[in-house]
Amino acid sequence: MKIIDTHCDALLKLQQSHRGKHVGIDPLSFYDAHQIDTNFKRLVAGKVKVQFFAIFIEHDIPSAEKWQHALEQIDFFYTEVIEKNQGMKQIKAWNDIWELKDGEIGAVLTLEGAEAFGNDLMKLRQLYRLGVKSIGLTWNYANLCADGVVEERGAGLTLLGKEVVQLNNQHKVLTDVSHASEKTFWDIMELADYPFASHSNARAICDHPRNLKDDQILSMFKRNGFIHLVFNPPFINEGSTTATIGDLIKHIDHFCSLGGAKKIGFGSDFDGISYYVEGLENAAKYENLINELLKYYSEDDVRGFAYQNFLNNIIQYGCM
Ligand SMILES: [Zn+2]
Repeated sequence: MKIIDTHCDALLKLQQSHRGKHVGIDPLSFYDAHQIDTNFKRLVAGKVKVQFFAIFIEHDIPSAEKWQHALEQIDFFYTEVIEKNQGMKQIKAWNDIWELKDGEIGAVLTLEGAEAFGNDLMKLRQLYRLGVKSIGLTWNYANLCADGVVEERGAGLTLLGKEVVQLNNQHKVLTDVSHASEKTFWDIMELADYPFASHSNARAICDHPRNLKDDQILSMFKRNGFIHLVFNPPFINEGSTTATIGDLIKHIDHFCSLGGAKKIGFGSDFDGISYYVEGLENAAKYENLINELLKYYSEDDVRGFAYQNFLNNIIQYGCM
């Protein structure tokens, strides 16, 4: 079964390994490096049809260097992911997904954290031009646009953040609420035409601040927003670093009980996580999840989670 996966951090791993080559770290190859959970061979083996690639700048990189890091990761997206692997195609407009031929894999560029562009909207416009299709304003901390989940003051969008959400609307770019503080989440829900959670689970099942509360989930579904589940064990089982596929399915059951059977999908967070769901350690293992889901859900439902819901939701949003 084909898969659309809406979050991974392979670009950061590629950048770090290439930056480290002068101290003897081997630059990783996206084609088959075993350190890359979403490497090309694994995407093929897992039947991943579309993989999102986040530009993510680590918190401790000095502000003045963050844009350079973003450009490097974009460069790796083009040189290592797209150009060196036959069949990898950038999805610059959602319509491109329908144009993918058998054997081709779509790659979507996204941004996780407005730190990359600071308060420079010219840089943001460049990101739109390069084909960034989804923007999460924060990672876990505060920046010039908004607060993330671990900021204790729990503020929401700044005036700049509101402007960015409106620019996302104009450019038909998704505004990603994963990592947003609760106040940021609700501010986004008021303004965003295309709210989306790229990698979050249900807080009623696992009480972690990275997960969404029921009122947030219901509000997303009511606004035609959609939520993609993350495969990070600490976001699946409270206080744990281990999880089974069955544990992950409890979150799917919960989303479905809130009316989300047509509103959910997968956003693994591969290459950004240190712990793994048993049997779901990289993109090649997707079949294990699909087979387990088919024991409890119809083929139609499972195809929805895996692939079709995302496409239907994009059409419903009209952000083609
Ligand atoms: Zn993340």
